[in-house]
Amino acid sequence: MAKCFNCGREYEGNFCPDCGTENPKASEMPSVSETSQQNYSAPPPPPQRYTPPPVYNNVVVNNNNVTSVGGWIGWIFLISLLPLIGIIIMLCCTHDESAKNFAKAQLFFMLLGVGIVVLIFVLAAVIGAASSY
Ligand SMILES: [Zn+2]
Repeated sequence: MAKCFNCGREYEGNFCPDCGTENPKASEMPSVSETSQQNYSAPPPPPQRYTPPPVYNNVVVNNNNVTSVGGWIGWIFLISLLPLIGIIIMLCCTHDESAKNFAKAQLFFMLLGVGIVVLIFVLAAVIGAASSY
């Protein structure tokens, strides 16, 4: 570890990554790779200009494509309250493809359940009608 005498930053290596000032201790130290250091005449590494990606982009992407935990809680609550209507609302309103597919799958099972119930009623009616005659 060396401390830059110019800006005071602690760093490793021969040059300060912030201001590019050469570390005087590094040149004093007896180095095994002395020839490679002499050949190294490139300018010090430029100061790091890492700027984190804008956060609002991620938020927009999340809002458009991924249903958040709160969103799922809302959808599940709606579906529990209004089974068929809730699923249709979810299918129409969500922008999340996987949530849309989930609503379609729920709708499939709901229609399957309705179909089975209707089938049972029809069978019961037919059996009841057959046994009464
Ligand atoms: Zn510095």
